Amino acid sequence: MPKVKKASKSVIKLVKGMKDILPNEQVYWELIRNKVSAAARDYGFQYIDTPVVEATALFKRAVGEETDAVSKEMYSFVDQGGEKLSLRPENTAGVVRAYIEHGMLNLPQPVKLFYFAPQFRHDKPQAGRYRQFWQFGFEVLGENDPIVDAQMISLSYFILQELGLNVEVQVNSIGDDNCVKKCQDLAKDAPQTVDHLCDECNKHFTSVLEYLDELDVKYNLNSKIVRGLDYYTRTAWEIVETSEEGKLNALGGGGRYDDLVYLMGGRQTPAIGFACGVERIINKMKDVKAPLPENWRPDVYVATLGPEARKKALHLLLELRKENVSVSEDLAKTGLKGQLESADKKGARFALILGQKEIVDGTVLIRDMENGVQEVVDIKKAVKEVQKRLEHHLIAKVLKKSK
Ligand code: AMP
Repeated sequence: MPKVKKASKSVIKLVKGMKDILPNEQVYWELIRNKVSAAARDYGFQYIDTPVVEATALFKRAVGEETDAVSKEMYSFVDQGGEKLSLRPENTAGVVRAYIEHGMLNLPQPVKLFYFAPQFRHDKPQAGRYRQFWQFGFEVLGENDPIVDAQMISLSYFILQELGLNVEVQVNSIGDDNCVKKCQDLAKDAPQTVDHLCDECNKHFTSVLEYLDELDVKYNLNSKIVRGLDYYTRTAWEIVETSEEGKLNALGGGGRYDDLVYLMGGRQTPAIGFACGVERIINKMKDVKAPLPENWRPDVYVATLGPEARKKALHLLLELRKENVSVSEDLAKTGLKGQLESADKKGARFALILGQKEIVDGTVLIRDMENGVQEVVDIKKAVKEVQKRLEHHLIAKVLKKSK
């Protein structure tokens, strides 16, 4: 063993406002990713990745120069080539840029996209507020029908509900240029109410609410929901969770942005989208002890004794994986007892044990980890024997459940 050096240097720490996502939290991330992908598939959305870095001008134009997200919180820099760039504070601007740049305007409309990606805001760090945080979001570009608004609201609502959260929708219409312009100064200071809507916006909003009733989505009209970013028109909503003290905690939000594509240089294209904050959702899931999927369990644990057995095990593991049998091992461990304890801890269904005797005989021991029964089988048939037992195991489990 080489001599271990004692620590003497100072430790470089995590950047303020950032967060490591450690292995013990990944069960939440995987669950949310799966839920989002399944919902996207069911509702016909396609995945899109846009770069973390975009031209600063993109966010100034799309999100608005005066907004906090751009004027105070954006991570902006000039790169080595003199370009003014920023880390994205949100993802809609990038999606709209890509939509225009790749001619998606000419595809059959609407174009339905979703993302799951980190965002960056130099926010004041506090509970549930980070400087790098993840959002998943859904965007529908090229459709004006209020039924889409209701579907998007319900999509955001049901995803969070299915994650075990007790949420409700706060919804509002902030109108469009036709109805709001005349009272825009007023709107800056006072909450906008739906009474100011022009006929068209009013009709649109009434239909959205009718569809929401149809969908049994729990919602409240809330004139305070105006959303922070400049590009919103008409329908705006937030998905909130009510804390025990009655405080509203926003887990996500969205709105129509019928002018944004035009503003970004494309032709007038109605659109709508929403984004939800993953860390906030996870914090809430922990609070309410939301149900999590069962931990992953390996089908087979491969245990070895002796150097020849370890070599043989390398092949056996490859063969098992090739046949889609999930495996686990601790080949660097030499003691059999420790290995079997590990197999037990990991919840393996079977263990394949290779010792010196087995190597000489060309065999392997299959141990049923539930009852400890062991059988000797020909090593060449090991994978098949394992598969046979796994099938029996599965059938027995199904039968037990159906009783
Ligand atoms: P917004 O893009 O501001 O509408 O935010 C949408 C959602 O993203 C919010 O409801 C939060 O769940 C989440 N979010 C926004 N800012 C942060 C942040 N600094 N840290 C963590 N989550 C955030």
